[in-house]
Amino acid sequence: MRFNDTPELASWRTTVRDFVRENWGGSEAGDEEEAFGGGGNQQKISEWLDRLGANGWLAPAWPRKYGGADMSVMEQFVLSQELHEAGAPTSRQMLNLVGPTIMLHGTDEQKAEHLPPMLRGEVAWCQGFSEPGSGSDLASLQTRAVRDGDDYVVNGQKIWTSGAHRADWMFMMARTDPDAPKHRGISYLLLDMKSPGVSVRPLINLADGHIFNEVFFEDVRVPARNRIGEENRGWYVGTTTLDFERSNIARAIAARKNVARMAGYVGARTRAGRPVSETQRLEVADRAVETAACEMFSYVVISIQARGGVPNMEASMCKMYGSELSQRIASTMMHITGMKGQLRRPAALEGEYRINAAMDYMTTVPATIAAGTSEIQRNIIATRGLGLPRG
Ligand SMILES: Cc1cc2nc3c(=O)[nH]c(=O)nc-3n(C[C@H](O)[C@H](O)[C@H](O)COP(=O)(O)OP(=O)(O)OC[C@H]3O[C@@H](n4cnc5c(N)ncnc54)[C@H](O)[C@@H]3O)c2cc1C
Repeated sequence: MRFNDTPELASWRTTVRDFVRENWGGSEAGDEEEAFGGGGNQQKISEWLDRLGANGWLAPAWPRKYGGADMSVMEQFVLSQELHEAGAPTSRQMLNLVGPTIMLHGTDEQKAEHLPPMLRGEVAWCQGFSEPGSGSDLASLQTRAVRDGDDYVVNGQKIWTSGAHRADWMFMMARTDPDAPKHRGISYLLLDMKSPGVSVRPLINLADGHIFNEVFFEDVRVPARNRIGEENRGWYVGTTTLDFERSNIARAIAARKNVARMAGYVGARTRAGRPVSETQRLEVADRAVETAACEMFSYVVISIQARGGVPNMEASMCKMYGSELSQRIASTMMHITGMKGQLRRPAALEGEYRINAAMDYMTTVPATIAAGTSEIQRNIIATRGLGLPRG
């Protein structure tokens, strides 16, 4: 496998790098809460995203007529790499999930209505899939949508809905035929969050941040023209995942940066040329080896996509390994920073190395749950990848 860029990709990388340097500058994007519209960095992030959007780089795989850039898989990969290297935001809330779904399955009217304002950042979206009894087994969802004239009437509840408190619209799945087999009785709807009967209740996470919510529906009317795809075929619409970042190079880049910070931190704490703790030195070395493996998984996934293939077991390996590694790195950060690492925001103390051990420790907990738990990824690897029977 060759890892160096072709001359064309090298030139594209330089273009992106120059653009990022001129328009974003050096700072990191901020925390997860900021990505969902909180925090104080919003003006800068919004202006930056406008500039990305003007180039078609917010939706690089989309056709130009819908505001994308028609990029090849490798061009998208390089763009993503460079944005993450610079710590710059890459997308608007949920754009990468709902946008490609509407593009693939929506009518021309739905595309014209929803895609341009989404790219311009005029509307924020949230994802209404999980329910209190339906997460990993999502097809068992119970929220009902009953046809009544030109509308559906929706009743039920969603949970863990990231950014619902700031969202204008929700893309959701609801049960339209309770008698059909579970995958075949679901429809995919776009729901205006300002509709009467919608209520949003905050769920505060372990790190004391407000990212996700519970959302309740009481006789909420959704016009039938807001259904994406056919009635009762919504499961197949919902499983459209065309995130341009399937290789998830973001995790590998974050891991590499964290390993460099940890090495700097441990290296600065030496006595007579030796680290204060030998075990810390070896632990950081372990994380460095694992980070290199994580990066390789991303390259495997992207090389399959570049050949026109669809990564399956490989994408699960990449997600599972990267998310578990982020937790091991956070543990190592806690070990090497000791009591100082437990401070909520120790930037003043460890600013030089930008180690935020306690926050990283807490914010990486959901990494192995969101977007399919580690157990589900292992199931996929075992069954689809290794051909083992279901348990
Ligand atoms: C940070 C974060 C953001 C999220 N944002 C959203 C969002 O915006 N919208 C949304 O709809 N959802 C969102 N979710 C929800 C997420 O999709 C679910 O949490 C996830 O799918 C797991 O479902 P669950 O929580 O119901 O756990 P469950 O499915 O109940 O799983 C509980 C445990 O059982 C294990 N388990 C379940 N089934 C199996 C099996 N077949 N084999 C082996 N083990 C199994 C799981 O691995 C887990 O350890 C978010 C979650 C997180 C953590």
